[in-house]
Amino acid sequence: MVVAYNTPPQEQTPSVYGTALAQFDRAVRYLNLDDGVADFLRYPRREFSVNFPVRRDNGKVEMFTGYRVHHSTVLGPSKGGLRYSLAVNLDEIRALAMWMTWKCALVNIPYGGAKGGVVVDPKTLSRDELERLTRRYTAELIPLISPKMDIPAPDMGTNPQVMAWIMDTYSMTVGYSVPAIVTGKPINIGGSLGRNEATGRGVIACMVEALKGHGFGKPSSETSIVVQGFGNVGSNAASFAHSLGFKIVGVSDVGGGLYNANGLDMPAVRSYYAEHGTLEGSALGDEVTNAELLALPCDVLAPCAMEGQITGKNANQVKAKMIVEGANGPTTPDADDILNDKGVFLVPDILANAGGVVVSYFEWVQDLQAFFWDQEEVYRQLQRAMARSYYATEATAEEYGVDMRTAAQILAIKRVADALETRGIYP
Ligand code: NAD
Repeated sequence: MVVAYNTPPQEQTPSVYGTALAQFDRAVRYLNLDDGVADFLRYPRREFSVNFPVRRDNGKVEMFTGYRVHHSTVLGPSKGGLRYSLAVNLDEIRALAMWMTWKCALVNIPYGGAKGGVVVDPKTLSRDELERLTRRYTAELIPLISPKMDIPAPDMGTNPQVMAWIMDTYSMTVGYSVPAIVTGKPINIGGSLGRNEATGRGVIACMVEALKGHGFGKPSSETSIVVQGFGNVGSNAASFAHSLGFKIVGVSDVGGGLYNANGLDMPAVRSYYAEHGTLEGSALGDEVTNAELLALPCDVLAPCAMEGQITGKNANQVKAKMIVEGANGPTTPDADDILNDKGVFLVPDILANAGGVVVSYFEWVQDLQAFFWDQEEVYRQLQRAMARSYYATEATAEEYGVDMRTAAQILAIKRVADALETRGIYP
């Protein structure tokens, strides 16, 4: 019997896909592309939505809604995360799939962009329910995924264990083990060393390069950083920056944050969070709301939580002189204009958070070759890819006289458009 239906929250949020399209439109006008080609790059290639049942532990059946969007397959199989959140909707998944296309092109890896999601708060499910939901959603996706077609990975609300269930469900369906069907897996079933930390490390690798040319003439011990979001990206970014000697003055999760102008004790913050699952009540810093956190005095702000955090309403309050975007789409186009006017140097999401997909690509390569690298090799190759992409974006910004976001989009769109021209339009 169907007892409930997991629908997204009803309040109207700004369109995330609107943000992705506005960014595309800003960049594409520098590229002299044929109108038809620009349209081709604007549209998602295919979109899948599914309603599917899951049996709860109490024996009742509940319906859930899931999506998977393949934005582009011009450069190779599509690649992108899988999100479990009550806020998931097709608009958001389309935007995230499009950003994946540009991100992969920007860091020069042979993938198109995809994204998927299920409308669910994973915290309301038991482990067994989460496993059944993941396996059923995977079974529904079978016609759309394969190591040669589309390769999912973790995103908000999913983790290596969820990837393991996807890998097992796919493998049981085809009859043999296929580690390369997902990335971000546990190491003991074909995951890559360094994947878990890769996005956070990549964010900080970009920040370090940006500080070389656009820094403030201070040593790292006096360069203050605020990180919003304490999940995979935020906690790893904050810890890596701390290990390099930077001063982390603020961190937050969905419930609020902590501030200490003298620098937070990151190992203590991490172990408190691991034990309590919240930053509240730690006494390791002054408690602040997320709105206050974004306006804290600091040199660098790294929004690493979710989209739509820095908007036309609060961009003026941002005091950071540099923003490095760990999350996808944390800054809206009207906020971009305000920040540009204020002279804030912004390293955009498709560049700054590309470390995750770079190491996912390494994981896929290792799985296909059944030959695994050590952690130093993964980190060395990640660092190379991030620095090379950072300087290619900076050179494009100089060449076109544009900000870093527009430059990253110009470079990425151009690479996909050039490949499309070489391949031609079928038939
Ligand atoms: P996660 O689920 O591990 O962590 C998300 C964090 O954001 C949590 O600390 C949560 O408490 C916090 N948060 C949620 N809603 C918030 C709100 N309204 N205000 C403030 N904080 C809030 O997710 P993640 O994997 O770290 O992903 C974070 C962002 O980075 C997302 O935009 C994701 O798409 C992007 N991203 C992730 C990866 C990756 O490898 N995990 C790669 C590239 C981009």
